[in-house]
Amino acid sequence: MFDFQIAATSGAARTGTLTLPHGPVETPVFMPVGTQGTVRALSPADLKAVGAAMVLANTYHLHVRPGEEVVAQLGGLHRFMAWDRPLLTDSGGFQVFSLAGFRRVDDDGVEFQSHVDGGRRTLTPERATEIQWTLGADIAMAFDHVAPGAADEATSRDALERTLRWLERCARKLGELMERWNDGQTGRSFQPSNVPSFRQTLWPILQGGTHPNLRIEGLRRILEMGSWTGLAVGGLSVGEPKAKMYEVLELLEPRLPRPLPRYLMGVGFPEDLVAAVERGVDLFDCVAPTRNGRNGSAFTPEGPLNIRNAGFRTDKGPVDPTCDCETCITYSRGYLRHLFVAEELLGLRLLSLHNVRYLIRLAEQMRAAIRKGEGALAAWADDWRRRYTQPGIA
Ligand SMILES: [Zn+2]
Repeated sequence: MFDFQIAATSGAARTGTLTLPHGPVETPVFMPVGTQGTVRALSPADLKAVGAAMVLANTYHLHVRPGEEVVAQLGGLHRFMAWDRPLLTDSGGFQVFSLAGFRRVDDDGVEFQSHVDGGRRTLTPERATEIQWTLGADIAMAFDHVAPGAADEATSRDALERTLRWLERCARKLGELMERWNDGQTGRSFQPSNVPSFRQTLWPILQGGTHPNLRIEGLRRILEMGSWTGLAVGGLSVGEPKAKMYEVLELLEPRLPRPLPRYLMGVGFPEDLVAAVERGVDLFDCVAPTRNGRNGSAFTPEGPLNIRNAGFRTDKGPVDPTCDCETCITYSRGYLRHLFVAEELLGLRLLSLHNVRYLIRLAEQMRAAIRKGEGALAAWADDWRRRYTQPGIA
């Protein structure tokens, strides 16, 4: 379990299989985001129909509502949301620093105000680990201090040091929980999801902003701290220029141990997915496909299109003629435009479905290109970019 086998490489890009307690995941993989234990507007059957292998759920959201004990009483997160494939939970770090009413951070943890009931709460590395254990995802993330994208070196250094100290505490806490579980002493209400032999792994998050020396040092110290089953790169795609993100990925790539799956957090626009796979990334998550879908924006091979555009009023064609999703096979652009103009709920589901399928197909296409060997992905990516960035359709 938590095994990662690389099947082929093309340049820095890799394709392989990540084996998790709830099944295998082919990489590179895009994970749709199920913020509140649901990928907005899409059912688990929808997600399976578009080929989703793995979903991300938000620890912060599930902790403030309905609370992890409620999820545990309803059978753990897999059973709760009726998703029997692999799940990854984030640690809540990103949310408490950005979304919630952020109050105060010290070495112990973060004090914040719940966006649901306004109550003051504290999240510590130990609590974040315990909550994720109770939810029962296959992969838990370490609780991290997220600094703003444009943070200066001193601020990024401070966040990095704290994240490293917190990583040690998360790992220790998960070790204790595993031991208690193995000893059969775990309280009934804290039993994780209905996996026969419950296992959960913890992935560290590398911070350090856009400061090369901090990224390199952070990575070295994480690797010295233990043997991990995967590693996440955090603090990118948070407002810094794209070129900076690519620079950091290029800097890290040769220094990352090849056998470790690499997860780039919060990245999911098509052009970023392609650029990051070329730079050796294996896992992605982002709310972009569903959020954009609900806003009427659809990904296509020629770039994004706005379905509300008056030009689509009598358009009989599908959103994306190359796509095999329910939306593209069944409905015309003209009908979808009508749904959005009339503010019908079906429109939100159909474009979300298409956009998730688009990113999953993009990952599938890249896997196929990587399997063709050296140079094949670069050639595929050049063609893809030429088409995606052509002016006109948007
Ligand atoms: Zn489609």
